Amino acid sequence: MRWLDPGRLRWRLLAGNLLVAAAGAITVAIAVSLAAPLAFEHAMGSQGAMAGMGTMMSSAVTAAFGDAVGSALVLGVGAATLIAIVVAAIISTWLARPISSLADASREVAGGDYAQRVQPGSGELGDLAASFNHMAASLDATERRRHELIGDVAHELRTPIASLRGYVEGLEEGVFTPGPDAWRVLGDQASRLARLVDDLSDLWRAEARDMVLVPEDLDGPTLIADAIQRHRPAAGARSIELVAEADEPVRLRGDRARVAQVIDNLVGNAIRYTPEHGIVRVRLGPRGDAAQVSVSDTGPGLTQDQLVQVFERFYRVDPSRSRDVGGSGLGLAIAKALSEAMGGRIWATSPGAGRGSTFYLELPVANRTPTKGHLPDAC
Ligand code: ADP
Repeated sequence: MRWLDPGRLRWRLLAGNLLVAAAGAITVAIAVSLAAPLAFEHAMGSQGAMAGMGTMMSSAVTAAFGDAVGSALVLGVGAATLIAIVVAAIISTWLARPISSLADASREVAGGDYAQRVQPGSGELGDLAASFNHMAASLDATERRRHELIGDVAHELRTPIASLRGYVEGLEEGVFTPGPDAWRVLGDQASRLARLVDDLSDLWRAEARDMVLVPEDLDGPTLIADAIQRHRPAAGARSIELVAEADEPVRLRGDRARVAQVIDNLVGNAIRYTPEHGIVRVRLGPRGDAAQVSVSDTGPGLTQDQLVQVFERFYRVDPSRSRDVGGSGLGLAIAKALSEAMGGRIWATSPGAGRGSTFYLELPVANRTPTKGHLPDAC
């Protein structure tokens, strides 16, 4: 039985306590048996009590005293040993209990039961229990996210795969005729799958901090100008006015390609979700120790809950519309993971549904003094 295992902490503590008690009892026994006769003789001598006794008489009294001390010692040590055993058993059980329950809970967690928690306490054992509970909670959250992610990925893969399969079957059965339309649909679905896989890989690597980021000092206005240039055709196609504004030229520190990817995601979203003839403004400026890029639009806006949810994986305010316009639902989750990996942060604000929104990206400013840059005008 594990409970009887002599290696268990409880038995070790008990043995330790008993050894201490035994050492004390032996010391008392030796000290008393050596010191008591001397003290007795000294006391009798100093009071002259032994003076009138014959030698036989005085040695009989000394022997009787020795016997009395011996019996008292046996009784005293016996009683002390019994009490020491009981007290040591209580103390060792009390000390070992939190550690045993931690050991039991860790075994359960190692076996996959992440809901296990231990009783909180005080002192060092309390700190250990709190750390254990914290670790179990984060393992629990990671496991839950892993489950959700598998479900979400399966769900996201289902639609393009079903569509590909339907089209291929339709071609085989002669429902569709092979031609540019069929190739376009097949190509679109294949691209959607490829984009999803690329996005998942980016997200996974950014969240796991497994991505090679090469930080360098970047000229903010140039970054914004390039992003505007890339998005001009998309904005033009939807008659959206794309405006760049700079508070002050600023240099920022980050990985060139990844900073561009985050800005592209914000500007791309703003153009995609803003109705035709809307306005998208991209601003850049210093904010304390950070360089701040903000992308405001006159689009549908976001509610308080949505402002946080949009950064979650696969969250879409309007799933059918977002899928139609081509998003994987991972763009902002990737943007968040990337900005945090570069020592920055990202968030959104909105005065409410229907009233546009602003997405902010903050990254550390570069060490060098800002140089003058330029921003393009509205396109
Ligand atoms: P998606 O690939 O679907 O665009 P994102 O992670 O980039 O994925 O965005 C998540 C969701 O956030 C979008 O589906 C959309 O509903 C919402 N969203 C993102 N940007 C905006 C915006 N500028 N205005 C309104 N809603 C937005």
